[in-house]
Amino acid sequence: MAITRRQFLIGGGLTAAGMAINGKDADASGLDSFELRTKGLKSTTTICPFCAVGCSAIVHVKDGKIVNIEGDDQSPINKGSLCSKGQALFQVANNERRLQKVMYRAPGSDKWEEKSWDWTLDRIAKLMKETRDRTFKTKETNKKDGKTYTVNRVEGMAMLGGAGLDNEECYLESKFARSTGLVNLEHQARL
Ligand code: SF4
Repeated sequence: MAITRRQFLIGGGLTAAGMAINGKDADASGLDSFELRTKGLKSTTTICPFCAVGCSAIVHVKDGKIVNIEGDDQSPINKGSLCSKGQALFQVANNERRLQKVMYRAPGSDKWEEKSWDWTLDRIAKLMKETRDRTFKTKETNKKDGKTYTVNRVEGMAMLGGAGLDNEECYLESKFARSTGLVNLEHQARL
């Protein structure tokens, strides 16, 4: 027998009322009384690294492993919400395809080698210093007026910031870049 939408709603209401009278509401039956899977877990906050909005997220950890990431309702920016990219943060932390060690391929080589962070940071610093010294320009002649001006800038290197950096980190990074003479600074979130 076909029932109308109105009959369906009336029937549903009567069923709910009957359950409440009999003391068999959903809570009492145990259907809705599950325990939060994050209950008792260690939690900390972090900032989503994907864009300039800077949403905050809560990270739950169990036995040293991230088991849940969700929007931080205390954040005035996102108030607990996360966009689809932010909701995928968990997959950034737990992903078997994510590289967890430094892999280096020497110039001309077709092989990747595993390297330590100490070796890597020394190598980056050495190459930055070499590039900075080689491409540091002290003077430049202006094409319009033909005069030569002091410029003191590095033209062979650029620095790119990321949305995972907070204000203070961005401040330090830009100060560091300027102190070396870098003039080409950009931010991933602005691109
Ligand atoms: S990518 Fe989404 S969740 Fe992440 S900061 Fe931007 S808006 Fe927020």
